[in-house]
Amino acid sequence: MIIFMKNKILRKLFLGFMQIHILHHAKKEPIYGTWMMKELKEHGYKISPGTIYPMLNRMEKEDLLTKEEKNMDGRIVKFYTITTLGEEVLKEAREKAMELTHEVKVKGDNLDSI
Ligand SMILES: [Zn+2]
Repeated sequence: MIIFMKNKILRKLFLGFMQIHILHHAKKEPIYGTWMMKELKEHGYKISPGTIYPMLNRMEKEDLLTKEEKNMDGRIVKFYTITTLGEEVLKEAREKAMELTHEVKVKGDNLDSI
């Protein structure tokens, strides 16, 4: 039960991290679901197609990403690129993430001695 709760809480937190990660890459170059899923897995996130595709779709609806469909060897692939709003969100999220990292890294060290 505790493990279940822990996973549930971490999952909720990581959904936000993953969205920042998506914005970060969509700013550099157009990304697509399979590639992004692989990238997130390499960073240690467990993510399935059932999570990544609805997430990209929602981020497009929220105007954080724009979608462009391209024909790749007869298959339609949806490529996503960051929007101006997405860039603004990424900028703020990045500042907060850095501030948070600093806070938990520097001040969090004291937790070990409690
Ligand atoms: Zn990455």
